[in-house]
Amino acid sequence: MRANDESGNLMAEYSAFALIRNALSANRDWKPAWRKPEPKPNYDVIVVGGGGHGLATAYYLAKEFGITNVAVLEKGYLGSGNVGRNTVTIRSNYLLPDNIRFYEHSMKLWENLSHELNYNVMFSQRGVVNLGHTPGQLDDFVRRGNAMRHLDADARLLDLDELKRLMPGLDTSRNPRFPILGGLIQPRAGTARHDAVAWGYARAADRRGVDIIENCEVTGFIKDGDRVIGVATSRGEIRAAKVAIAVAGSTGEVMRMAGVDELPIESHVLQAFVTESIKPFLDTVVTFGMGHFYMSQSDKGGLVFGGDIDGYNSYAQRGNLPIVEDVMSEMLALFPGLAPVRVLRSWGGIMDMSMDGAPIITTGPLPGMYLNCGWCYGGFKATPASGLCFAHTIARDEPHEVSAPFRLDRFHRGAVIDDKGQGATPRLH
Ligand SMILES: Cc1cc2nc3c(=O)[nH]c(=O)nc-3n(C[C@H](O)[C@H](O)[C@H](O)COP(=O)(O)OP(=O)(O)OC[C@H]3O[C@@H](n4cnc5c(N)ncnc54)[C@H](O)[C@@H]3O)c2cc1C
Repeated sequence: MRANDESGNLMAEYSAFALIRNALSANRDWKPAWRKPEPKPNYDVIVVGGGGHGLATAYYLAKEFGITNVAVLEKGYLGSGNVGRNTVTIRSNYLLPDNIRFYEHSMKLWENLSHELNYNVMFSQRGVVNLGHTPGQLDDFVRRGNAMRHLDADARLLDLDELKRLMPGLDTSRNPRFPILGGLIQPRAGTARHDAVAWGYARAADRRGVDIIENCEVTGFIKDGDRVIGVATSRGEIRAAKVAIAVAGSTGEVMRMAGVDELPIESHVLQAFVTESIKPFLDTVVTFGMGHFYMSQSDKGGLVFGGDIDGYNSYAQRGNLPIVEDVMSEMLALFPGLAPVRVLRSWGGIMDMSMDGAPIITTGPLPGMYLNCGWCYGGFKATPASGLCFAHTIARDEPHEVSAPFRLDRFHRGAVIDDKGQGATPRLH
């Protein structure tokens, strides 16, 4: 029996019969979810970076545009970058129309993604709550909520009683410095399982003929004049009619190899933390409106949380202690009852912070090249729309309608998309 046309005969592959058969052979005979091909000398499209965005781009190139002679080149293993390191919040709760349209497009793709990939990405629409601590902040929430509802996104104000019911552990009484007055919830927002997203897109792209080549680091670009015609890699030279870059926090390093020194991007570390498993404690995603803190509870019971980026530029995938202290104090300001809970692990990822807080999906900046970056704190939620819009840009040499405002030339035209009105200050985006 076929599950769907996207992923081949997966029902048969993962049937109860197959489970029993593989159990009897000590699980040695499962077919790998994607092949391990040798790189070919030539492709129609090379996608540099096997994170969520690179894999989604390859999948949509094959599925939507019939371009299957594609290689995804990943320097490590799939999921070793931010796609496997993030705190998995998915939302479209922005103020500016360009952002709402793009992230709402992504939200709609998330709502069908497990079905589309025939892979359970564990998308859980448990809501995202922004806490409000002043009357002015609540006025802002009204404005943002109305902007969202005008563009087909969902938003609702919460009063204190609703917040208490939703989060019994929240300190709504004893917190004199930042009293909680209410909140804004996007009920359709939520979380998904990060590495399932990478694996799901990888398998679906592979089944459509895309070559996913791990342990293949791009070390330089092959050019004909200004035009990019291929890449030098740790596994030899590979040529392509089109070379697309989706390397998130490594954008600056990779683009320098192509001779592009100036981009409106800075790389910073963002840390995340997870506690030991505890009983169900938090049934939504919550954000602190007076600092920068966000938390949800994973299906295994661990509390997953984070805060600000580290305050200086870095390409290291680990962070520093001042942020740890900051994040812990913000968590305890909201949930003092969590003081005895032990933190099990923390890690860092490299963030591609753009100067207006919005992403870049663009043709260029060199002929033959396409660039996807600038995801700041929020590229996981963008994965499906980013992949679809980037594939459209590569295939048609023009932007998709929902990503057109995110072209690189907006910085030359002065058409920045600064949702928080905070200017070129990465820490505040
Ligand atoms: C701690 C943390 C928490 C976050 N929380 C959220 C959140 O809650 N919600 C949200 O929406 N977003 C969140 N993000 C942001 C989100 O994870 C990223 O914006 C998004 O994953 C970036 O896109 P990607 O998946 O393609 O990146 P990546 O997974 O980083 O993919 C880029 C890939 O490029 C590869 N690469 C780099 N250089 C080369 C080279 N020279 N050759 C070949 N390959 C190369 C890297 O190895 C990497 O695998 C968070 C990020 C971090 C670090």
